[in-house]
Amino acid sequence: MANILIAEDEMSISNLIKMNLALVGHTCTQACDGNSALNMANSSHFDLIILDVMLPGISGFDLISHLNNTPVIFVTAKSGLEDRIRGLRLGADDYITKPFEILELVTRVDVVLRRTKAVSHSFEFDDIKIDFDCKKVFKQGIEVNLKPKEFDLLVALVKNRNLALSREKLLEIVWDFDYEGDTRTVDVHIQKLRKKLDIEERLKTVYKTGYRLEV
Ligand code: CA
Repeated sequence: MANILIAEDEMSISNLIKMNLALVGHTCTQACDGNSALNMANSSHFDLIILDVMLPGISGFDLISHLNNTPVIFVTAKSGLEDRIRGLRLGADDYITKPFEILELVTRVDVVLRRTKAVSHSFEFDDIKIDFDCKKVFKQGIEVNLKPKEFDLLVALVKNRNLALSREKLLEIVWDFDYEGDTRTVDVHIQKLRKKLDIEERLKTVYKTGYRLEV
């Protein structure tokens, strides 16, 4: 997975981002002011920088021009359109405003990494291998026949692994916003995945919420 620098002076937010990105498999380094963020960015390779705009020392807007092509997602309390446009004009790949939902951040990170090709093409746990490009799943090296929505559901669980996902959120991710089905659709597909892949132990039901893939 990716090597990510989090440049954010509010430690509670920085730690929250780090914890959740670590849960989905990324390695995170933290910087709490503009100068140390710049030093770190210039001395090691990062696949992505999550950059707060209002940083002590060098601001995020000033800092981005000193970076060599490293993808950047701005995270800031500045939600005004002008700031958004300024951030994107300066070359940011995306822009997210506080307060944000952690799933939104994880998704945006995934989208940017996929675009910049730093994202992995497969994922393995236990005896299961998921090939994202070919849309195939193997168990002990043998292909498991999943229906398209079962595959999409598995990918959503893997990409947000170790995070609790509500049935509504899974409906939104896998079946799109407009889908008028009910949440039992999710339950049915979860049961299919558990059975076909024998992942009852990994694919946990989260009481009153939904599901979580623990890997
Ligand atoms: Ca700040």
